[in-house]
Amino acid sequence: MLVTEENIEQLAWQKMNGLLPAIIQHHKTGAVLMQAYMNSESLRQTLTSGKATFFSRSKQALWLKGETSGNFLIVKQVIADCDSDCLLIACQPLGPSCHLGTESCFPEQKLTKQNFLSQLEQVITERKNDAPENSYTAQLFGRGTTKIAQKVGEEGVEVALAAVAETKDDLLGECADLFYHTLVLLQDQNIELSEVMTVLQQRHNKT
Ligand code: AMP
Ligand code: ZN
Ligand code: ZN
Ligand code: ZN
Repeated sequence: MLVTEENIEQLAWQKMNGLLPAIIQHHKTGAVLMQAYMNSESLRQTLTSGKATFFSRSKQALWLKGETSGNFLIVKQVIADCDSDCLLIACQPLGPSCHLGTESCFPEQKLTKQNFLSQLEQVITERKNDAPENSYTAQLFGRGTTKIAQKVGEEGVEVALAAVAETKDDLLGECADLFYHTLVLLQDQNIELSEVMTVLQQRHNKT
């Protein structure tokens, strides 16, 4: 169930003595970032402010995540599980979610390898917005759309050539080049990888 300000009271607060576990998930990669508890007031505040707010059991008080660290969690979606006693919250983190400084409180978690494309997309976005001098990605953005598009064309040809005339390692390398440069071109055009995935999904749904 999608949780909104209108249906907060339908959650299983009584059964859970007023506190529901809230699992915080990265909105793009699906990675579990942290887990904490919410009472109905903290959930209401989360939905109105758009920033994850918990109930701290140790302090017995509302806890706006990021209040002291600046590492706020921007809430994209709140859903409840099958029996409404647990929350799954998709967020965009503005910094490390763990107070120990790691992106996630579960740094050893295994994500599917495909997820790395989303992680790479995020790094590329950072390079575009804040161009460090020694970054190849930042240089590419500096050289402009035509140059980036040309690189994608070259890498596409290199993939094809590697497949028919080179080794498997060559093909792997060229595919990696193509994926990377395609992500740069998409970012240059202000297009998100997820928009391409939507097109693929729509085609899949038609067949
Ligand atoms: P913050 O909400 O990020 O400003 O951090 C404030 C305090 O909340 C930290 O000093 C920790 O005691 C605690 N804290 C922050 N993030 C976590 C987390 N992911 N898990 C447990 N405690 C946390
Ligand atoms: Zn449940
Ligand atoms: Zn942690
Ligand atoms: Zn290449």
